[in-house]
Amino acid sequence: MDNKMIYLDYNATAPLNSNVRKKINNLDLNNFGNSSSVHKMGRNSKKIIENVRENILSKLQAKNYELIFTSGATESNNLAIKSFVKNNNIKAVFTSESEHASVLDVIKSLDVEKKYFKLNNNGSISLFEIENILSNLKEPFLVSLMYANNETGIIHPIKKITEIVKKYNGFIHCDGVQSLGKCELNIDDLNVDLFSFSSHKIGGPTGIGGLLVHNKAKISPEIVGGGQEKNLRSGTENFYGILGFGEVVSDIEHLNKLSYTNVKNNRDFLENNLKKLSNEIKIFGENCDRLNNTCYFAFPSMTSENQVIALDQKGICVSSGAACSSGKVESSHVLKAMKVEDKYINSAIRVSLGWNSTKEHVQKFFDVWKSDCFKKGRNHA
Ligand code: PMP
Repeated sequence: MDNKMIYLDYNATAPLNSNVRKKINNLDLNNFGNSSSVHKMGRNSKKIIENVRENILSKLQAKNYELIFTSGATESNNLAIKSFVKNNNIKAVFTSESEHASVLDVIKSLDVEKKYFKLNNNGSISLFEIENILSNLKEPFLVSLMYANNETGIIHPIKKITEIVKKYNGFIHCDGVQSLGKCELNIDDLNVDLFSFSSHKIGGPTGIGGLLVHNKAKISPEIVGGGQEKNLRSGTENFYGILGFGEVVSDIEHLNKLSYTNVKNNRDFLENNLKKLSNEIKIFGENCDRLNNTCYFAFPSMTSENQVIALDQKGICVSSGAACSSGKVESSHVLKAMKVEDKYINSAIRVSLGWNSTKEHVQKFFDVWKSDCFKKGRNHA
């Protein structure tokens, strides 16, 4: 990354962690083969992949789970939901409108009953409502809810939700992408049936992710062929991706610790400055349990797009919400689901800090935003 740029878009992706680069640079690259080959070079690769698998399971405290490597969380979500529904006679799927498209679109494509839990104005879901709905069910059902929202950072109490789901004999999938390295995770304790995550959100390579499958959960492959990954996801393993992913996860306690200390302090510093500046600024999910790195706010006197462009011109990278494949600024389905007024939806920007973001980065963001967005927006309003 250009050193002069200030990157505050970690919920979209994180720059490659320097330990990953070192790890790959220090390998004797001639010593690895296809991990399915029987020869020594194949076995070398296989051994590394299995070590990483064990290490990730141990770091995430997931001894009751199998880890299936996938190409990322989009694939993990597809595999988890489609396959679980098929193999467990699921008649109804419950989710919320603030989920990622890779969950919402999969659910839409299924031939089952679909229900959406209502979001409160602050982005949370009422446990009372969840229990009320699930307690009436007679047929097998699946709930799919994210651990933390990629736009607002709002955290769902997945452990409590899982307890309710299990009480009524249901199953639960959790899209855990945004929680990794930002929340302390103990998957055995969480006790979900399926948990998706992705490497590039914590500084590992892109194109690699995982699905944790509880050893009592029944799934079948969506991608068939050579039978890799215990026959649940065919295709030659992404060796360098897995290696890099393993390297960042091996440092996960450190990332979590930073999230609760430096990252939180810097995010709070930014929000205090914003609040002092004007009461026209609205911070989403402010009083909710949410990720310590995320500040999602709106200032109605300038559109999201104009703010993102103005900041980009000064070398500051933030986004208006979820990264969209077309590169266009689209209004947030998450804020719509929270029934936020249009004037705030159309002027929302998301600042998401990383583990190495400094107070100076945040100060620079604030100064530029104040002069090029706040003051200009006000003058034109
Ligand atoms: N779920 C959430 C909550 C995400 O933030 C993302 C990435 N934007 C995904 C799923 C998809 O992950 P990947 O990029 O690894 O496919």
